[in-house]
Amino acid sequence: MKEGSLEAPMRHPIAWDDDSFYDETALDTELRRVFDICHGCRRCFNLCSSFPRLFDLVDESPNESVEDLTAADLKAVVDDCTLCDMCFMVKCPYVPPHAFDLDFPHLMLRYRAVEHRKGLTSFADRELAKTDRNGKLATLASGLANFATKEASPARGVMQATLGIDKRAHLPAYADVPLANKQALVPPPNPDGPAFGRKVALYATCFANFNDQTPGEAAIKVLAHNGVEVRIEYPKCCGMPRFENGDLAAVASAAERVAAHFEPLIDAGYAVVPLTTSCALMLKFEWPLLQPDHAAIARLSANTFDVSQYIVMLAKETGLMPIVEWDAKIGVHFACHARAQNMGPKALEMLRLIPGAKPALTDRCSGHGGKWGIFAQHFDTAVKVGRPAARQLAKDMPDVMVSECPLAGPHLKQVLELSGNAAPERIGHPIEVMARAYGL
Ligand code: SF4
Ligand code: SF4
Repeated sequence: MKEGSLEAPMRHPIAWDDDSFYDETALDTELRRVFDICHGCRRCFNLCSSFPRLFDLVDESPNESVEDLTAADLKAVVDDCTLCDMCFMVKCPYVPPHAFDLDFPHLMLRYRAVEHRKGLTSFADRELAKTDRNGKLATLASGLANFATKEASPARGVMQATLGIDKRAHLPAYADVPLANKQALVPPPNPDGPAFGRKVALYATCFANFNDQTPGEAAIKVLAHNGVEVRIEYPKCCGMPRFENGDLAAVASAAERVAAHFEPLIDAGYAVVPLTTSCALMLKFEWPLLQPDHAAIARLSANTFDVSQYIVMLAKETGLMPIVEWDAKIGVHFACHARAQNMGPKALEMLRLIPGAKPALTDRCSGHGGKWGIFAQHFDTAVKVGRPAARQLAKDMPDVMVSECPLAGPHLKQVLELSGNAAPERIGHPIEVMARAYGL
């Protein structure tokens, strides 16, 4: 329950297939209504750069009023939003069913949907969102792709000039074989594992399929060691990068296809575990809002678990294989899209299962925001927003640092480096620490 409301917060379905959703006059009115409430409230002043931008624009306007803001001002506020969801999840007392009916991130999303329909999504945003095509091509020539995308590569200057991707921004490397093609390497379930008989369909997600496979490999080992039968599935990208672009029709269609793929697996008793936390958020919460009457999507949502959430659930329901004591300080970044799943800090809970381990939580945004933070017009802001998170994560000089978000981890590492602080070799996923604790 939230302050100012007597009922639990909820979200409205996203009316992407209704023409009134794209009515620009109505959108302008709604933006000014919401921005005026925010101007009077200002609780979100330190969450991101959207709110400071809004408050500065209002304060510097002739009458210190939202009515004075120009269309370009409104766009600047929207452009600074990474859709992290934190204002809705952790700050705003005016979310539905409160009479103010305020859902700031979904209003930003509506603006982007209008821009997308008008053909205003940038070329780079459109091309980067084609993760399946990009992943298939890049894994075929991963050596070349990884050479070209390294920060020191001369190609980065060209990418900055043509695509607007900041040449300083860390870009993820590509694997040479997609994770979904490695089913043969999945070990059989340990018959002595306490969770023997449980079944998991690991949704590889584009990032874990084509880019960083370490969390997926760790999850497979931890699950199989505990007796879980694992299969790797990759029907298609969940569409999160297209969601960021406001291409909601494409996301709704991806949702239908992925839900149809998982339906028989759910029938056969598999839990669906996405390897990327933002994708788990899509399956659990955003897809049912895009397709509120779709039974298979609702069923997929109810049967989807974040990786850390699934391990914590196993610990409670079946118990886990014993873990040897490990006296390790672990800095745990609680990624926004894990927080937005409204399940509590499951990575922290999972790492507390390691006897002797001392995990400490950092719950500030990394500032990366999907592909948002790699663009030249955002990179410095992404670093600025990420600095408090990186400082807090590194504060007690932990032995290991982790983040549930595969983009936030490398970004926080880069923020530490750019701020002149010691950075670890890797800020990986918490499941990697579990695999290490098991000696797997
Ligand atoms: S969703 Fe995140 S980035 Fe966007 S306005 Fe809210 S807190 Fe800021
Ligand atoms: S989103 Fe809600 S909490 Fe944040 S500034 Fe606006 S009204 Fe206040």
